[in-house]
Amino acid sequence: MNRIPQHLPPADLGHGIWRIDAGLHKPGMVACYLMEQQGRAAIIDSGTWHTVPHVLEVLEAHGLAKETVDFVIVTHIHLDHAGGAGALMQQLPNAKLVVHPFGAKHMVDPSRISDAAIAVYGKDQFVHDYHEIVPVDAERVVEAPDGHRLALNGRELQFIDTPGHAGHHFCIWDAKSRGFFTGDTFGLSYRETDVDGRAMVIPTTTPVQFKPDVWQQSLDKLEAFSPEVMYLTHFSAVRDVPRLMASLREGLRDHHRLAQETLGHENAFYAIRQGLLDWLVGHCSAHGLDWTDSAIEEFFAVDLDLNTQGLVAWQARYGAES
Ligand SMILES: [Zn+2]
Repeated sequence: MNRIPQHLPPADLGHGIWRIDAGLHKPGMVACYLMEQQGRAAIIDSGTWHTVPHVLEVLEAHGLAKETVDFVIVTHIHLDHAGGAGALMQQLPNAKLVVHPFGAKHMVDPSRISDAAIAVYGKDQFVHDYHEIVPVDAERVVEAPDGHRLALNGRELQFIDTPGHAGHHFCIWDAKSRGFFTGDTFGLSYRETDVDGRAMVIPTTTPVQFKPDVWQQSLDKLEAFSPEVMYLTHFSAVRDVPRLMASLREGLRDHHRLAQETLGHENAFYAIRQGLLDWLVGHCSAHGLDWTDSAIEEFFAVDLDLNTQGLVAWQARYGAES
């Protein structure tokens, strides 16, 4: 069933948190997380339909029966985060799906998110990557508005509304580890780009709800908790949060500026993609990463295209009022 066997082994991040490689696109690109609290479990972000057997494997390896999973939590409903949630829920009889209020109805009737993803990726790529988006029974869905709290076997999780990457995005505060599960709100940070143990972070401006100013306000909300660790979907845990926060904020401003400067450009897609590549090359070099321009372009190919499409969509939606 799992057509994408290539993934990194699960990693123990402490505090009962395990990183699971969702196996989308390539190893080390998309994560989901297992949180275990004295015999009860939550899965945070689901990966895709193809990820489900691997999540079940990891549960089994931890001696956690399917019945011990109380929550499947999706940071937002983009398919790399939530595409497999319905299929996973079918396997977990006691789990509730926890989702942002703006995302809930699309998990019950996923036709619109499927159509939107097909518009972004094309039908063939959609089927290859996501296979199928399984609906979730409405009675099993818990909407988590800003400030919502729930307990995993007594371990408190708090939900913070964080629009900017997407309007249906929340981050999950785990007081025990003093960490946030950030989905895409803390950007992308791949472990391959670590230099001497220092992480590099870049924005992810995926279509179609990128709002740079609102995103900065969401970062203010995260910053107020003084988090010590961020659990990123792309990819794994990062510390050194204040430095990365400043870098992400600057990257967001740069992406916003590029979208403004190329507004009305004859071939905005090309201009933005080239601008983003130039930005990435500078960003990697400032970070001390010794990669050629073409190695950078190849490594970030998926993100470059998505970020470009997102800035083009931003221009169409909000460009005139920026
Ligand atoms: Zn994502």
